[in-house]
Order: sequence, then C-alpha cells, then structure tokens
Amino acid sequence: MRETRLSTAHLCRRGMGKIMRISELYNKERIVFSIEVFPPKKLMSTENVYTALGEIAALKPDYISVTCGAGGSAAADGDPTLRVSSFIKNECKVEAVAHLTCVSSTKQDVLNTLTSLKESGVKNILALRGDINPDIARKEDFTYADNLIRFIRENGLKFGIAGACYPEGHIEAESVNADLKNLKRKVDAGCDSLVTQIFFENSLFYSFLEKARLIGIEVPVSAGIMPITSKKQIERMVSMCGASLPPKFTKMIARYENRPDALRDAGIAYATEQIVDLIANGVEGIHLYAMNNPYIARKVHENIGNLL
Ligand code: FAD
Repeated sequence: MRETRLSTAHLCRRGMGKIMRISELYNKERIVFSIEVFPPKKLMSTENVYTALGEIAALKPDYISVTCGAGGSAAADGDPTLRVSSFIKNECKVEAVAHLTCVSSTKQDVLNTLTSLKESGVKNILALRGDINPDIARKEDFTYADNLIRFIRENGLKFGIAGACYPEGHIEAESVNADLKNLKRKVDAGCDSLVTQIFFENSLFYSFLEKARLIGIEVPVSAGIMPITSKKQIERMVSMCGASLPPKFTKMIARYENRPDALRDAGIAYATEQIVDLIANGVEGIHLYAMNNPYIARKVHENIGNLL
C-alpha cells in the first residue's frame, strides 16, 4: 500500500493551501468544483484505484469527497475512507471531505473516526444517516443525520460539515416539502453546506433550490451531476435513489446502449450540457460523481474548466 501511494503521489498537486472549511470556498466570484470518489472495493486492485485517484486529484478540483460503506467506518480492515481521504489530503494536496454515516455507529465510534480524521489533517466531513440495510445492525445513538451533526457541534469539534439533499425528495420521504422541512433541521443543527443527490433534469433542482431558500435554508448548495456510462449503471442508480429520467435522456440510452464508447461520450455531453445550464443559472457548486473514472473526470473538466 505504501509503495502504491508513493508511486501515484507524483500525479497529484503540490503545495497544500491552508486548511479550511469547504463552506469557505464558496463565494460569488467562482463556482466550487468537486469530485466524488470511492475507496477500493473487494476484488478491485488497490494500486489501480489509487492510480485513478491520483489522476483525478491532478485535475485540481476544489475538493474531493470520499464515500464510506453503509456500515460506517468500523470496517474489519481499518477505515478505507480515512485512508483514501488522507491520501487525497496529504499526498495529492487537495482538500478531502470524508463521508461519515451514523445509523450503524455509536457516539464513541464517531468520536474515534473524527479523531483519526483530525490527526490526518482531514477537517471536513459529509454527515449522513446512511441507508437502512437489513444486513447491517443499527445502533441506537443516531436516528437521522441531524442527530450526528448536532452531536459534532455540541462537542465543539471544529469540522466543516456538509449534508446531503434531494432535489426530488429523499426516497423515504412523503413529499419534497416534507423532506425539505427535515433538511432545514439538518442545517439548523449546524451543517454548513449541502450536496445534492444525482438528478438528470435541471428544472427539478431549480424548483428545489427555490423552495429551500424560501424556508430559510441559506447554506451553499452544490449540484450533483453524474455522467452516465452504461445502462446497467443507470438502472442501479435509479433503483437506489429514484432519480427521474427525462425522455431526452432515455432516448440517448436506448440509442447507444450497445455501443459503450458512444454511450460514454453521449453521457459526458449530456452532463456537460446540464452543467453549462446550471452555471448560466447561477449554481454555486458542481459536484461530479465520476465513479473513480479519470477519463470521464478529465473530459468533463476540459469541457467546463473555463466556465468555473
Ligand atoms: P437524513 O437526512 O437523516 O434523512 C433520511 C430520511 O429521514 C429522509 O427521508 C428525511 O426526510 C427523514 N428525516 C431526516 N431527519 C428527520 C427527522 N429529524 N425527523 C423525521 N424524519 C427525518 N450513503 C452511504 O452509505 N455512503 C456514502 O458515502 C454516501 N454518500 C452520499 C453522498 C451524497 C451527496 C448523497 C446525496 C447521498 C449519499 N449516501 C451515501 C446515501 C445516503 O446515506 C442515503 O440517501 C440515506 O438514505 C439518507 O441519508 P441522509 O444523511 O440524507 O439522511
């Protein structure tokens, strides 16, 4: 592992800026560009994943966020989210945001993870409840993400805390409005920026944002965009998060589903078009779900770099 990290470190940016909360990056002059990655999974080559992460970090996004497993960070082989976040922060010299789920963690588990993150110089987290998984035992300390955020703030831990939000409403919520009320609790608990779930129809994002501002949610919001690469990927995403698919999008998939390179390029073009429209309409941040794919991250970045 050590060799892998050192061999990919040259791909990353040099010259780490001062540690800051992600919310401080947002300002009226520029659009925050971030990329989401995931740690190596079983049956994946760790070396290949770290090489890909190094290439993604070399694009110099404002920050990279690192997902965590549904069971939180108490993995048997240590904490992969911590390892990758530390790699991004200390070797790639890019701000890292570690995702942290709470529904299967105790308060002590959370404190332990935050201590390790702090020791690694990672000062920002994305605080999540996590999906309810019948195969993973729930703990009683946290029910919702706002409990986690309040717990961190009440303990005076000085982390930047982002939260998740859902332009089409969370899959378990009765309605977008009911979900927005719960989102307000999360912001009131101390979350200082938000990142949206994937969406493929910008009007849904605009309507969500307008409603959020009307009920007093004032923190910056980054729009989550995923360039789609395969039909299987989109089916999986839709079953997980329920994102609706506009006809323009489904026609594109139907046309290119058996031509992987064409579908990938069409997916990049679709995502680019979404981002250009979002920027024209004043979006504060773009969060790219690049699925650890440096080619996709690079192509999108090339397309929109000058607009940021
Ligand atoms: P919450 O904000 O707690 O909301 C969950 C549900 O409960 C919603 O329906 C909400 O309306 C409702 N609710 C919230 N608060 C209250 C309350 N006080 N009273 C009553 N109802 C309430 N999952 C992972 O496992 N790992 C990851 O790395 C990961 N990264 C993600 C990144 C982003 C940007 C997003 C959008 C999602 C991510 N997820 C991840 C998925 C996420 O864990 C699931 O969507 C999960 O089901 C909800 O998490 P949450 O933090 O949004 O939950």
